[in-house]
Amino acid sequence: MAQEKQVILLPEYVTVRELADIIGASPIEVMKRLIANGIMASINQQIDFDTAAIVTEEMGFEAHSAAAIAVEEEKQKAVEAQTWRKKYAEEKPESLIRRPPIVTILGHVDHGKTTLLDTIRKSTVAAGEAGGITQHIGAYRVNHNGHQITFLDTPGHEAFTAMRARGAQGADVAILVVAADDGVMQTTREALSHAQAANVPVVVAITKTDKRNANIENVKKMLADIGLTPDEWGGDTLVVPVSAQQGTGLDDLLEAVLLTAEDKEIVANPNASPSGITLEAEVSPHQGTMATLLVLNGTLKRGDTVIAGQAYGRVKAMFDEKGNKLEEAGPSTPVRVLGLSEPPMPGETFETTKNDKSARVIADERKDATAARLVRPERVFTLEDIFAQFESGKAKELSLILKVDVQGSLQPIVDGLMNISGDNKDGITIRILAADVGNISENDVNLASASGAIIIGFSVDVDNAAHRTADRTGVDIRLYNIIYKLFEDIALALQGMLEPVFADKTIGTAEVRQIFRIPKAGTIAGSYVRDGELRRNAKVRVKRGNRIIAENLGVASLKREKDDVREVRSGFECGVSLNNFDGFVVGDMMEFYVSERVN
Ligand code: GDP
Repeated sequence: MAQEKQVILLPEYVTVRELADIIGASPIEVMKRLIANGIMASINQQIDFDTAAIVTEEMGFEAHSAAAIAVEEEKQKAVEAQTWRKKYAEEKPESLIRRPPIVTILGHVDHGKTTLLDTIRKSTVAAGEAGGITQHIGAYRVNHNGHQITFLDTPGHEAFTAMRARGAQGADVAILVVAADDGVMQTTREALSHAQAANVPVVVAITKTDKRNANIENVKKMLADIGLTPDEWGGDTLVVPVSAQQGTGLDDLLEAVLLTAEDKEIVANPNASPSGITLEAEVSPHQGTMATLLVLNGTLKRGDTVIAGQAYGRVKAMFDEKGNKLEEAGPSTPVRVLGLSEPPMPGETFETTKNDKSARVIADERKDATAARLVRPERVFTLEDIFAQFESGKAKELSLILKVDVQGSLQPIVDGLMNISGDNKDGITIRILAADVGNISENDVNLASASGAIIIGFSVDVDNAAHRTADRTGVDIRLYNIIYKLFEDIALALQGMLEPVFADKTIGTAEVRQIFRIPKAGTIAGSYVRDGELRRNAKVRVKRGNRIIAENLGVASLKREKDDVREVRSGFECGVSLNNFDGFVVGDMMEFYVSERVN
């Protein structure tokens, strides 16, 4: 069988240097190949996709256009959005019915989310009802005065964000839980940002009101401070004190949820082609894949062919949260579904297709697209790119998440940004999704990724986990220490005049201990990695004492024993040969460095 080529995603335009980085070759090598194809290009010159693809393919990779894939994804997203949102806007109003609201519970850890979910679940299962105990399947339905409410019972905003990141509106109403003895905390504010970014209205449950040190009035004051003024104080947030332990306030809470839901158009067409989202999925040794799907539009029936992400299959059997078998499930109904080829990711949207074959084709296409994406994270949205998005009409809003060092910096920066937003002529507005004190956390990155936002940090650091997630998701984090520089960048970005700045960063050093001159292969420096790591796609500078002998050299080969490797970590020995340099002397130091974007 022919070996599969590694797929490389290339942007529409790329400089020779960037292309070399992407394919792990030296710029010189790329330039040589370009010349062989009749193209003279300097190291910083941009070449187009077609030209870059020639070099990439010559070097044994398969080149795909990131732009084309992005367009495909856009299309795909548009199709997905259509499945239940746009579609029912096009549908005749008479085919729409109100569906039960879908509710998620958000809030700080230990403030009582799980207990509240459990208590609501238990309190509303009528005694003696068939099936009895509800299972945990990711969601359950309750009945309040003849109205149904669907609760997502995975608390915490991770699940919620995952859903939004995949383009699905996860919930219609959010209950923000705040413990009466603890008040508004960092995560409370974050959770609120998530709900607001998703345009999901919030009802507040003040929990643990039975506790001796409960202070409901104080919590209400804190809520007013974050813009959630209770309605009894003239605001428009319904705030309900509850005790999950004593079971008090629950009816009022459900009533508040229904009231809030009434203001929203929560509708669906039960006769449309069924679609919705995946809540949970697992593989059970006895039954195979069991996925909990939440139907948002249409009516899912046993025997339908479902596709969710890369999973597909015919619905063999369906169960509700009490384990009862179902033949069909209408809008806002969570169902356990048996029969999918693999467990879909939570948050993945699902649709139905005409037959198994078309489902399989779509699933395979998605698998290929994912494989291509895995090679290199695309920067989905950087500050430099935003103007292009504005110009193409894709966006008219710049969403920002702001993290600052001290409370005192917050307001001046927000005000300054709002001024910039007001000043620009093209009608582009700045929307601040969250503004808070503290380092940039993984949560901020998740929120940014779900909302297409950019993170601005002022005199703060970035947590390690946040770094990793940002790398993976392509979220742009910009750090500033000087306030006018921050304003300047944003103002420039809105005018499309912000240029990325790159700086060299040393990633590893190695000492040359032995020199091998090998006919044909050239000169190999037997080296010991002192610190950091050596990477094949880095640049190298050679130092003798304090003097730089040569720099900006590409790595021709990097070997451990006889094997070609991509990287070698500190404490290991390796063989290095460089392009255009063979004058090593024992004792030389090699510094490996990469070009990194800085603000
Ligand atoms: P979560 O992390 O937000 O899901 O919080 P949990 O539901 O796990 O609750 C955290 C702790 O608070 C547990 O020890 C609960 O027993 C306790 N708790 C939750 N609700 C109440 C309440 O209404 N009253 C009292 N006294 N304790 C509660």
